[in-house]
Amino acid sequence: MNSLFEPLHRDENNSPLIIAGPCSVESPEQLFSTIKELNAQGISIIRGGVWKPRTRPGSFEGLGTVALPWIEEVKKEFPIQFGVEVASSKHVEAALKHQIDFVWIGARSTVNPFTVQEIADSLKGSKIPVLIKNPVNPDLSLWLGAVERIANAGIRQIAAIHRGFSNFRDSIHRNSPMWQLPIEFKSHFPEIPMINDPSHISGKRSLVPLIAQKALDLNFDGLMIESHISPDQAWSDATQQVTPFDLGNILKNLKTRKIRFEAPEMLDQLEEIRHQIDQADHELLEAIHRRMNLVEKIGAYKKLNNVAVLQMERWQDILQSRSGWANSLEISPELVREIMSLIHQESIKKQTEIMDS
Ligand code: PEP
Ligand code: MN
Repeated sequence: MNSLFEPLHRDENNSPLIIAGPCSVESPEQLFSTIKELNAQGISIIRGGVWKPRTRPGSFEGLGTVALPWIEEVKKEFPIQFGVEVASSKHVEAALKHQIDFVWIGARSTVNPFTVQEIADSLKGSKIPVLIKNPVNPDLSLWLGAVERIANAGIRQIAAIHRGFSNFRDSIHRNSPMWQLPIEFKSHFPEIPMINDPSHISGKRSLVPLIAQKALDLNFDGLMIESHISPDQAWSDATQQVTPFDLGNILKNLKTRKIRFEAPEMLDQLEEIRHQIDQADHELLEAIHRRMNLVEKIGAYKKLNNVAVLQMERWQDILQSRSGWANSLEISPELVREIMSLIHQESIKKQTEIMDS
């Protein structure tokens, strides 16, 4: 079946690709009733985990291959395409044997090149679409590498899923979105559709609409959302799943933005603003150039007087005064702090070179 990712990106109505379904397949009845209701909401690309990677043993790890014939049965009833997670060659073989329409590689597998390669090898010769979740840790290379391994195996229909990254201090999200990573991914592989998974990012259903909207605002190509006929009774990820009915409402309330400017007068305006941005950036770089010249001057002066490069008090003063300037200029103090830290690092490096020369 080739229709899943064709068109690969958003269609002409600009509607995002929607994939929904339970975290785990639990029983033929759960599968049937969930899919029936999802179908009633216009959703026909279904997910459902059969092998569940759990961080710790002891919780529900999926029903395994017994669930695959149920999927085949339910596909006779409804016009759907069904995908499961695969984490080994055994999983791939079983999925292909049971006519699964697409597979995804989970976040705990993307971290491991051996696992990804094993999956890639067992996919060789098949045309099945493959979705690749970001690794649990914020390492872009692992994600890109997984895409390359799957592409090298001859798979042509590949999409990426952004499901967020493990975190220590982020108490809002189950997995921090770190939006800059999927954006950077897109700059490497602009042709690969990027699908957002607000369920695993949020960990709680109340946050799902907000994250989904943010993804659409950032021009993501689709959403994968966990949906269960009775979410509170779900055997895995109960707190983040939504009923098919609630999902329908979430989707109705999402605002899709135009992918690009269309009218010529809009384009003129855009060009004008971009021109001003280019000028502002140029001025910014000129200011950095001026500052770096002064850094060299002060480095030479410190060397002449045999004074240490790092002057902690001065650095504290810089941070404090620039935070104040940030406030009065209405720029985020965090941004200014980060910029100043980078400039300071470079300044220390330059001065050390002068000291040692
Ligand atoms: C899942 O999709 O149910 C899942 C286990 O996701 P992740 O790999 O993103 O944790
Ligand atoms: Mn889940």
